[in-house]
Order: sequence, then C-alpha cells, then structure tokens
Amino acid sequence: MKKIAANYIFTGITPPIKNGVITLEDDGTIIHVSENDAGNIDNELIFYEGVICPSFINTHCHLELSYLYQKIPQHISLPNFIKEVVQFRNQLSVNERLISIKNAEEQLIKNGVVAVGDISNGDSTFNQKSKNNLYYHTFLEVFEIDSLKAKETVMNAKKLRKNYFSPTQISITPHAPYSVSIELLNLIVKETPSILSIHNQETESENIMFKEKKGDLYEQLLAFNSAIENWIPTNKSSLQSYLPYLKKAERLLLVHNTYTSKKDIEFANANFKHLFWCFCPNANLYIENKLPNFSLFENETCTIGTDSLASNHALSILDELKTIALNSKTISLEKMIAWATINGAKFFNIEKQFGSLEKGKKPGINLIQDIDLQQQKLLPQSTVKKLF
Ligand SMILES: [Zn+2]
Repeated sequence: MKKIAANYIFTGITPPIKNGVITLEDDGTIIHVSENDAGNIDNELIFYEGVICPSFINTHCHLELSYLYQKIPQHISLPNFIKEVVQFRNQLSVNERLISIKNAEEQLIKNGVVAVGDISNGDSTFNQKSKNNLYYHTFLEVFEIDSLKAKETVMNAKKLRKNYFSPTQISITPHAPYSVSIELLNLIVKETPSILSIHNQETESENIMFKEKKGDLYEQLLAFNSAIENWIPTNKSSLQSYLPYLKKAERLLLVHNTYTSKKDIEFANANFKHLFWCFCPNANLYIENKLPNFSLFENETCTIGTDSLASNHALSILDELKTIALNSKTISLEKMIAWATINGAKFFNIEKQFGSLEKGKKPGINLIQDIDLQQQKLLPQSTVKKLF
C-alpha cells in the first residue's frame, strides 16, 4: 500500500482537492481519495509539489507516420501538407519505420499517456500495439472519392482488420469529409457503427470546397485524382454536409475543428447525441498556424490528441494543454484535465479502469510540476511525470 499527496489533486470528475491524499495498492489500484487531515502526521505519506491527475488519454495519433518527424516544413497549410506526406510516404526502410513507431510509443508512455486512439492506413503498427504496453483503439482509416470503388475500399480494410490482435479495439473509419464518397460513408457506418473518428474542418479550404467546389484543397485533390470532378458541392459547411450520414454511429470523434463555427456546433448537437470534439492544437499550429476558437467548445465534450510526429514536435498531451492555456482565457485547468482524461476514457468506453481518480480504478497517475498553483495555470515550463 502507498500514500501520495500533492498541493492539488485533480480527479478528472470533481473540483480540485487541495492537499489531497490518494491511497493506492502496490499495483496502482486506487483504494481511497480524500482531503488531507491537517493534524495527522503520517510517515508513510509522500508529498509532491504540484498537481496530481489521472494519466492521459490521447484520442488522436498516427503512430505509423512517426518516421516523418522533422521531415515536413511548418505552416505550409493542409493541402500542401497532404502533398508532402504522399511524397515522403514509405521512403524510409521498413525497419526504420518500425523503430520510429517503437520510439514514439516510449515517448507517449514517458509523457503520461495510458490509452491512444490511433489512425492506421496499413498494419505497420499492429505488432507493437499487440504488446499491450498501452491501451489502443485503432481506427483503420479509408479514403476513396470514387463512389464505384467504395465496396472494394471497405473490402480491403476488412482484410487488413483480420490481422489485428483485438477485434473490439479496431474500427474502419473515414479519413476526412472531402476524401470519401457518400456511398463509402454509408458502408463504413454499416461496418463499424459503435465508434468512429473523422478529421473535421482542419483547413478553411475544406468549407470552401463544400460550398463552392473550388479552392486550394479542391485543386490539390484534383491533382491526385480526376474523379473529384464528379463531386457535387452542397452549399453548406463541411460538417453540415456530411454529419447526417454518420448519424447511426454510437460515438463519433471530430478531430481538429479549427474552422468549426458556432452554427456548426449547434447543428451537430441537434443531430447527434454522443459527439466528442478532439483538439490537436500543436499540429494545427504546425500545419496551418491557426487554432480553433476553444471558448466556443466550453460546454461540449472535448478530448485531446497529439496527431502524428509528422506535424508535431512531440507526442505530449501536456504540451497540447499548455498551448490551449496560452491561447484561451476561459478554459480552466480543471476543464482541460477532464478533456485530457475522463472524456477520452468515455469515448473509448474504458472509464471503468481509466480517466479518473476513483476507488477501484487503475487509471495511471501523473504528476504535473512547475505550475502556477495559486492561479491553477499551466506555465511554458510545466512538466509531467508518470508516478504510477
Ligand atoms: Zn490526424
């Protein structure tokens, strides 16, 4: 049995507990979380300066792109970024790519992550994931704009899915609204209705393409595949165009949301019950040098992702939270920690074990240090350490 305490304990589900104490089994299972009895001198108790919270849930990553670390220039906008990824894709040897996946996983663990939603186009990450060093949900991502090829695309993904170690921890998922046909969206929802993820409104030109069938993104897609010429604009924003087709999904994660408006959020809430909004702010800065308007999402169920090392300097949820703290006056640390912990656990349906500091759970325990304790604010120099 162990007893740990800190200036504040953020449980993920309650207001912070000042001078809180956590009693744990040796394996990290929580026995008790309480306020400190000030008069009680306890020799077993280890006190940490800083904040204790549950370990993080990273809801959006692409481990298979880890070999693209520092290969793609910053601030080139999404259409150019996609072009660069396609050009660089698979340039390194298989072995170099496998090593980069293993190193990326080590980085996630060191930075206090316990569960990852990981986008995969191929099976290069499957072996590393099967070691169960972290909890993984894999989104087997498909894209194909030609509606005649929709069936074949899903068939190929199903073949790939057979090689995965856990049938309940993998879903076939659409890449982005602009890279799939309606036929393909319908087939995907039929195949894996329980849990889906989609890149949403990452670039302004995504909305322009849906409204007017023009712009940088449309031009880039046209250069890849002339089938896009048959694509029909909707005269609506991207989100308002595609979301109705995903209505049957039980839980849906919308990733990025950089160009999502208040009207889009209202539309989404009117159409969808279990919607999760994932922010990857450092990737947004890397690619587009633009951030979502976080204050629009204050009352929504949000989660945090790192995206891949192709578009980020590190795989660190704390670094993402620091960027939000620096760029939003309205989102409290308590709220951000809920975004980084319990909300992701709910999305993956793993909240029985992960996401909050509660009796009986074994969620992993992080210590955040060098923070402004008085204001309860993260600082650029704040660090995270995994205690359990
Ligand atoms: Zn992504």
